Amino acid sequence: MRAVPILMYHSVRDDPPPDTAALSVRPGVFADQMALLRERGFTPVRLSDPAADVPRPICITFDDGYADFHSEALPVLASFGYPATVFVTTGWLDDAGPDAAGRPLDTMLRWGHVRELAAEGVEIGAHSHSHPQLDQLRDGPLHDELTRSRLLLEDRLQTPVTTMAYPYGYSSARVRRAVARAGYTTAYVVANDVAADRSGYAIPRLTVQRSTTPAAFGRIAEGSHRFHREKILTKGYAVVRRSRYLYRQAMPRD
Ligand SMILES: [Zn+2]
Repeated sequence: MRAVPILMYHSVRDDPPPDTAALSVRPGVFADQMALLRERGFTPVRLSDPAADVPRPICITFDDGYADFHSEALPVLASFGYPATVFVTTGWLDDAGPDAAGRPLDTMLRWGHVRELAAEGVEIGAHSHSHPQLDQLRDGPLHDELTRSRLLLEDRLQTPVTTMAYPYGYSSARVRRAVARAGYTTAYVVANDVAADRSGYAIPRLTVQRSTTPAAFGRIAEGSHRFHREKILTKGYAVVRRSRYLYRQAMPRD
């Protein structure tokens, strides 16, 4: 597989709730971004597509499974004929019922939507069951998060689900081993780098958010955007999280 930039979106809507505001892209801006890809000669391809012979391949992914993927993003993608991937947090789905888990940040997709997306050719990946920081979980709950989301998706969609994205982009060597053991063949992080190939358990993606200007979006797609500040923030937060994890490990129970 060749090096391909992989865009990471979350929600696409005009009036997001505070929790998703920073990562939610306006529908009009999203449409402009898709048009820019066409103007610059990009060819959106599926994550699983080797894209050996297409000009300027690029992948478009969405995390969490917000209802606005169906109402806002999908019509735009369809109008351009672009494929996309949605990483679904199964316990957050609007009609998860007895499987409901975690705290959804906004109105989420329903199972009927997810089935419809899959039927229309949208790739469906897992994004854990309740959206925890996976590296903070002990082995048992970690395995449950990974297998429950995959098995629920496979049961409802009647198709194999072999890829996933880490909630918050967080993983560790232990988490990546657990992901492999849970039956996934690939997994996606944030990292803000262009993926050299789409194999393994730490495939990088590029963040698109509400503050992304048209010029920055162009650079992100071209693989030349420098994500300085975001990287520093991620590193600082990782230190805070690591010390909290060590503290919890030292406690007899938590
Ligand atoms: Zn997420």
